[in-house]
Amino acid sequence: MSKTIAFIGLGIMGLPMAKNLVAAGFDVRGFNRTPAKADALAEAGGSAAATIAEAVAGADVIITMVPDSPDVEAVLTGDDGILAHASTGATWIDFSTIRPDVATELAGKAKDAGLKPLDAPVSGGEPGAIDGVLSIMVGGDQADFDAAADVFDAVGKTIVLVGPSGAGQTVKAANQLMVAGNIGLLAEAVVFLEAYGVETGAALQVLGGGLAGSKVLDQKGQKMLDRSFDPGFRLELHHKDMGIVTAAAREAGVAIPLGATVAQLVAATVQQGNGGLDHSGLFTVIEALSGKNEN
Ligand code: NAP
Repeated sequence: MSKTIAFIGLGIMGLPMAKNLVAAGFDVRGFNRTPAKADALAEAGGSAAATIAEAVAGADVIITMVPDSPDVEAVLTGDDGILAHASTGATWIDFSTIRPDVATELAGKAKDAGLKPLDAPVSGGEPGAIDGVLSIMVGGDQADFDAAADVFDAVGKTIVLVGPSGAGQTVKAANQLMVAGNIGLLAEAVVFLEAYGVETGAALQVLGGGLAGSKVLDQKGQKMLDRSFDPGFRLELHHKDMGIVTAAAREAGVAIPLGATVAQLVAATVQQGNGGLDHSGLFTVIEALSGKNEN
């Protein structure tokens, strides 16, 4: 018998992930704060739950994919949240990107309530979610991780248990540090190349074949050339993530000077009203620093 999965948070990432779980044969009940988004899951063969209680009742696996630490906390521990309604022994997988210390604390509460918690933030963006090829960095117990392999396989390609509860979020914080830094340097390179009138499409093609090549270049380079910053991954979420990595590094006594600089540039982009752009929209601030954004 296929597992029943409750999927809470059907946004840019959650909806395509939930659809892939339906395609893999799971019985998926979706809940979304704005109910209309759950209809798209129902059309794809899942079902729409009106409340978290309805979604999680009797579910074998409960998934959350919401923006930030307070959102996960509310969905888990709220009066009508997961802990109030989940069956003992259910696995709780949190795919959201949140603070490692909060993930550890919430995993403890979930365990106390008889659930099997796995923090499992993802990387690969909306295309990775649609194609079911996300990288998933998991924190939790080995047995719980092994038992959830069928769920992870339906949404991801590189799936690694990196340590106990919270460790997945720590690895994700490092991921976000590297991605933001890469985007910042790619934006600087594009502004530099344009200043010299270089044929930028050709330039990015050849750069992509050498040591400067990266998935960031592949996925974000053309967006910068086209000034096309529809999300994708919203800058305000990356701003959240730079806050997470900055605080966690400080706590660990680790200096991340390049990360701190990029965090400020991300913050500036958000403060200029561009938090809704894709994170490649960091380009707008990098370009403005050189006064090149006037035409
Ligand atoms: P999103 O499109 O904004 O979706 C967030 C979902 O969470 C929406 O369905 C939203 O409901 C729901 N939600 C927000 N606050 C809630 C609350 N307090 N209670 C219940 N539901 C709530 O965000 P996303 O891009 O899918 O990102 C989700 C998570 O994945 C974030 O932690 C993000 O950092 C991470 N992530 C995103 C990407 C990416 O490329 N987008 C990649 C990797 C990781 P409404 O529809 O009512 O707003």
